[in-house]
Amino acid sequence: MKSIKKTIVLFLSLTLLTPILATAKGGQGNGGNNSQAVVTELYPEDETTLLWMREEEKLARDVYLAMDARWNKPVFRNIASSEQSHMDALLRKINSFGLEDPVLPGKGKFYFAELQSLYDDLVAKGKNSYIDALEVGATIEDLDINDLIKAIAATENLALKTTYESLLEASKNHLRAFIRRLDQQGKTYTPVYISQELFDAIIDA
Ligand code: ZN
Ligand code: ZN
Repeated sequence: MKSIKKTIVLFLSLTLLTPILATAKGGQGNGGNNSQAVVTELYPEDETTLLWMREEEKLARDVYLAMDARWNKPVFRNIASSEQSHMDALLRKINSFGLEDPVLPGKGKFYFAELQSLYDDLVAKGKNSYIDALEVGATIEDLDINDLIKAIAATENLALKTTYESLLEASKNHLRAFIRRLDQQGKTYTPVYISQELFDAIIDA
């Protein structure tokens, strides 16, 4: 009966610790009645990470749209549309687990305060020059790669792992695209989130 106990603990911690999740549709522990009981092995940390990653993809999309509006360069437009598809992929996961999507409809508006202030800082920096905008792009991918690697390591849910892995490969491509352009401008980027070793390995791959 280990799994029942786990479900109860999961349900309690969701209710107590994460108010947004308490409003999730469906979910666990409806008194043992089998009607519409979708019990997935999803831990509270998985849920928080999923919601965070969904907004982090929005951060990327919205910053690149702002950079495209400022600098009118295809690199930002193209990568923004890739970020849209990442947002869509994570929304499908959120819906499949019956969770509440945290994403706000407005461009540049965020549910998580840390992402809001990161957005504001990055857009302010990226408006200074095209090179700054490329560095902002590299910083976002640097962060994204770091968070996705952590998310992959932390989850045992195969559906989530697989989605994160495909987003990670795309982020590496995005990072290469920004670094190539910084290179052409004679600029060196030093990673902030991932190690220099991993950074070099991605760029040289
Ligand atoms: Zn992405
Ligand atoms: Zn990206």
